[in-house]
Amino acid sequence: MKHEIDQLQDFLQRHRRVLVLTGAGLSTASGIPDYRDKDGVRRGRNPIQGPDFRKSEAVRRRYWARSMAGYPTLAGASPNAGHRALAELEAAGRIHGIITQNVDGLHTRAGSRKLIELHGNIHGVVCLDCRTVHPRADIQAWLAQANPALVPTGPAGEVVPEARPDGDAEVELDEFQDFQLPYCGACGGTLQPDVIFFGDNIPSERTADALAMAEEADAVLVVGSSLMVFSGYRFAKLAAQANKPIAAINLGKTRADDLIGLKVEASAVEVLPLLV
Ligand SMILES: [Zn+2]
Repeated sequence: MKHEIDQLQDFLQRHRRVLVLTGAGLSTASGIPDYRDKDGVRRGRNPIQGPDFRKSEAVRRRYWARSMAGYPTLAGASPNAGHRALAELEAAGRIHGIITQNVDGLHTRAGSRKLIELHGNIHGVVCLDCRTVHPRADIQAWLAQANPALVPTGPAGEVVPEARPDGDAEVELDEFQDFQLPYCGACGGTLQPDVIFFGDNIPSERTADALAMAEEADAVLVVGSSLMVFSGYRFAKLAAQANKPIAAINLGKTRADDLIGLKVEASAVEVLPLLV
């Protein structure tokens, strides 16, 4: 382990424009559960598909009911030592920037500035009609008031739905038809959390920004991601094609293991502070 930390420090010394690619494994220490087990297989039931969400009011009721129960866990999470270490490394000019697959907003709260949230941010809610972005806290308060029977209970002893990284939760409800959907305060339009659902594409402008950041980098450090989702894996693949070295801090295997030159199988929250 000591030897591997030395190698990582050396990696950061040798490459002055390291692109850091972060995933769910960085936020588990903040109490936000990971999507995937160590074998990289997705846990839990089928996720909401974006096209279904926009087509069907029933799907939207199901999403918002489950999300209303799961959101408090995300809202209550704080950045951990790993997030803070990356913000310090950026402030010290030791890394080039961060591309994250996480939607929890914890990099920003830790102080990271050069950041691309590839899959959006769960703390925003966007109107599909007028594109106004509303704070999720406002929508959450409205949801809780309009659907008092579904307010999650807690803390210990009671049944609290398992929170999931997309703000969704495993809550079984027989009936959703009474669930009151939120609507845009500006135009009355349909609201969607400001995240990329499965089956949807990342906006082309955001992809272009991420590709530009990747292009400028001279090395890649993967943190807490198995890279099973192509939107993250592509950055490892592009780096490999350009002969840029790749290092990783991740528990368990990744889709890019054959491309990674230096891999530390450890928790990011333990390793990153040692690099500052
Ligand atoms: Zn609107």
